[in-house]
Amino acid sequence: MPRFAERVYNFSPGPAVLPLPVLEKVQKELLNYRECGASILEISHRSKDFLPILDETQQLFRQLTQLPDNYRLLFFSGGAQMQFSAVPLNLLSRSASNRASYAVTGKWGELALEEGKSYGSAEEWVHGRENRYNRIPTVYAEDLKQLNGSAYLHLTSNNTLYGTQWNHFPQTSEVPLVIDATSDILSREVDFSQFGLVYASLQKNLGPAGLTLVVVREDLLGCHLPQTPKLLQYQAIDSQNSLNNTINVFAVYVMRYVLEWYQEQGGVAAIEQQNRQKAKLLYDYLDESDFFLTNVNLPDRSLVNVIFNLPTTELLQQFLRECDEVGLLALKGHREVGGVRASLYNALPLAAVERLVEKMWDFERKALT
Ligand SMILES: *Cc1c(COP(=O)(O)O)cnc(C)c1O
Repeated sequence: MPRFAERVYNFSPGPAVLPLPVLEKVQKELLNYRECGASILEISHRSKDFLPILDETQQLFRQLTQLPDNYRLLFFSGGAQMQFSAVPLNLLSRSASNRASYAVTGKWGELALEEGKSYGSAEEWVHGRENRYNRIPTVYAEDLKQLNGSAYLHLTSNNTLYGTQWNHFPQTSEVPLVIDATSDILSREVDFSQFGLVYASLQKNLGPAGLTLVVVREDLLGCHLPQTPKLLQYQAIDSQNSLNNTINVFAVYVMRYVLEWYQEQGGVAAIEQQNRQKAKLLYDYLDESDFFLTNVNLPDRSLVNVIFNLPTTELLQQFLRECDEVGLLALKGHREVGGVRASLYNALPLAAVERLVEKMWDFERKALT
């Protein structure tokens, strides 16, 4: 592994790149947070210094998403995968037969469905398994009818491993739509009023690892199954403003600065525009190249995880090695998918993608001569 004297371009799928100004602020304040005489790492989650941070983080998220007032913002430990359990535990009882529906469009959806089956009759609704999850399935009126009587429909908005993304969410009317948005939250403009619940662990687009944000419509609180652990009950966490136990103070603190930085960038609309520009640069190159190839179905291509491959394993290995050497980090595809995965989350600058495309061009030319 090469070492670097300076920060380089980081395409990590998660934990992922954070905005440099945020890291600098954290560094500057780390020893003595705003003259409170101690580090943010050393103060109470109930202190006068921390409570406004929690409050501002929630306010900023509401502003950035134009979140309707009837949604609550909760924080949970345990990562996004803890919500694979929390969602069925809290919502299954809405269906007389404890039935829930899952759109399975990748690995995370598979795992969410498996966990749902532990608590009730979680069923696969539509899936995109053909051709190794390279597309988002088409939803027909028949499919929507099948949802009748379901407690919720669970869906992964962006498939981090396979590089596909839902562009339009199914119109589920009465059935709450539950979204795992871990890899694309705040990466594009989305109307939150179409969702019953949205969750995302912080480490891809919101901050460091260690917490999961849950955005839930008020009417979905309070129907958890009796065996639900206290710290997974949405209503209990809401009633204590996520301070039931010691919250990850540092993660919330960093998230506030990340959201502030998003606001300074011009909000989610401006961030989406930047993300589209980054993704277009890379996809345009892939579309022109006969050397670097992607088989992700065109209308379903992810804005934030771009998946592609090279003609042979040897070339792939060499490409990844050379990228590492020049400071284009963490481009190796997920072990179940292989190839290259470039994660272009919000904090990754356009210059990183320009540099990557330059490297691809250079590598392709050398390989073909
Ligand atoms: C990364 C990821 C997860 C896993 O998150 P953890 O916080 O590690 O549990 C789940 N879902 C999606 C869509 C992801 O991208």
